Amino acid sequence: MKHVAVLTSGGDAPGMNACIRAVVRSAFREGWKVAGVYRGYQGMIENDLIEITQDHVHNTIHRGGTWLKTARSEEFMTVEGRQKAISHLRERGIDAVVVIGGDGSFRGAIALSKEMNIPVVGCPGTIDNDLFGTDFTIGYDTAVNTAVEAVDRIRDTATSHNRLFFVEVMGRDAGFIALRTGIAVGAEAVLIPETVTYIEDLSSKLASDWASQRRSGIIIVAEGDDQGGAVEVAKQVQERFPQWETKVTVLGHIQRGGHPSALDRILASRMGHGAIQALKQGLSSVMVGVKAGQVVYIPFEQATKHHSEISPYLLDLIEALR
Ligand code: ADP
Repeated sequence: MKHVAVLTSGGDAPGMNACIRAVVRSAFREGWKVAGVYRGYQGMIENDLIEITQDHVHNTIHRGGTWLKTARSEEFMTVEGRQKAISHLRERGIDAVVVIGGDGSFRGAIALSKEMNIPVVGCPGTIDNDLFGTDFTIGYDTAVNTAVEAVDRIRDTATSHNRLFFVEVMGRDAGFIALRTGIAVGAEAVLIPETVTYIEDLSSKLASDWASQRRSGIIIVAEGDDQGGAVEVAKQVQERFPQWETKVTVLGHIQRGGHPSALDRILASRMGHGAIQALKQGLSSVMVGVKAGQVVYIPFEQATKHHSEISPYLLDLIEALR
């Protein structure tokens, strides 16, 4: 019988609860025990763990956030911090760990697995969808749906007032939320960190839109765009193009919350179950991914070293349909 510890770590994402539930139920099915670590690696260092029972995960699949809470831990980046965490895990007889988080959390998982010499498996939980080795990460679909719903509302007011809106979505290093949101809302343009933004080009496109009687528009800006966020881009465009009234909306943390979409619940369920299957097969230091509809296992080293690439086809689709 194994005694598995499960934690959520780094940025929170809708669907993490569904993933915890899947880990717990799949482990119970094997006759294993599961300990829940509160507040990610920081909780591990502070020995903030509980023995999970069926009651803990009952009625959680639909809830946003993570009931185990999440955190970032500077201390876990040090050998001393990790040794404290390892001593608490050893005292409890933990012999495997499932980490639900992003690439930072998986770097921590690599160190933990090496230094404690136990298997550690990861489930990709991040709204950014930037992890190599899986088509989608837990929380991404919900975040995109939240952004789309918000932009649809903005579109109504933009149309009524003949305004050009710059809507900032999350994505400090990755433009995946911006790209899919942009396609789904029919945006006039999408500005992302992976491509260079030329304000002159954007302004001249908008000028030709204006000349052809287009009187409202939506530009989606990822927060990490090279020209700065939506406020900065809107300012620069407005200077060059004063006749079109511009407005800015920063969507911010609403993209992290809310009930997970059906897609995220199903993905999280498959990944949580996949993590226990990986442990059962004797795998370690792998991330569970879903690629082309199949559950796959990607070594942490690969998942953390490479970045998911933006599809040129999807970028072109924005241009083709504008
Ligand atoms: P995410 O998992 O969402 O990418 P972070 O990058 O903040 O979020 O990472 C979460 C936590 O993982 C960090 O606060 C830290 O405790 C741990 N971590 C990140 N990188 C390392 C590393 N190189 N070594 C050990 N722990 C790490």
